[in-house]
Amino acid sequence: MKLILLGAPGAGKGTVAKRLTQIDGSVQISTGDILRGEVNAQSELGKKAEEYMKKGDLVPDELIMGIMEKRLQEPDYQKGFLLDGFPRTIPQADALKKLMEKLNIKLDMVVNIDVPRDVIIDRLSTRRTCSNPQCQAIYNIKSMPTKVEGICDKCGSPVIQRADETAEAIAHRLDTYNQKTAPLIGFYEKEGMLKTFTATSSDEIVAGVKQALGI
Ligand code: ADP
Ligand code: ZN
Repeated sequence: MKLILLGAPGAGKGTVAKRLTQIDGSVQISTGDILRGEVNAQSELGKKAEEYMKKGDLVPDELIMGIMEKRLQEPDYQKGFLLDGFPRTIPQADALKKLMEKLNIKLDMVVNIDVPRDVIIDRLSTRRTCSNPQCQAIYNIKSMPTKVEGICDKCGSPVIQRADETAEAIAHRLDTYNQKTAPLIGFYEKEGMLKTFTATSSDEIVAGVKQALGI
């Protein structure tokens, strides 16, 4: 399957993407994970991205398109891909459209995950992420705690609250989403690609996606 996952921070894009990869071997491509990996490695790209990310601002479109042009030419997604956190602005969506035409890639659907703001704020402030850049597993101190407090179940590294998950940065990320990313809903509606899901459980969203794809 070739899908774009659209939704505010905390809507569950990453969780849904991970579940969908298990269905048919499609790969999750998360620009947030790629960027956090670069920041941890303190690469040139990571250094540039870090200041934007800390504040909850978007990284400039040129940097993101540089990453994605390379990523979409790697050969690991014969089974498909789940774009998680990309595109996030109209210029990125325009550039992606051109890139997919050039690479002869045909998208199946844009999955818009629509979750109420209060649910999102609650989820983000209780979210914890594995600090190991190779792992980045996500937990939630209320709904999905680690077996040992503060330690990742999968790799044993400390789990942390991301720098952009303070109350202030969360509010800013949601504003940024409303201003810059929400217009993509109209963009993909016009393209006839959009399907909106309002369930708050990832199980229900995964089931809905399977149904919509007829798999
Ligand atoms: P979330 O969806 O929970 O906000 P992500 O992990 O997708 O978190 O992204 C974290 C940060 O990385 C964003 O706040 C932003 O600074 C940067 N980022 C990720 N994807 C993009 C993108 N497509 N365009 C611009 N910035 C991005
Ligand atoms: Zn881990």
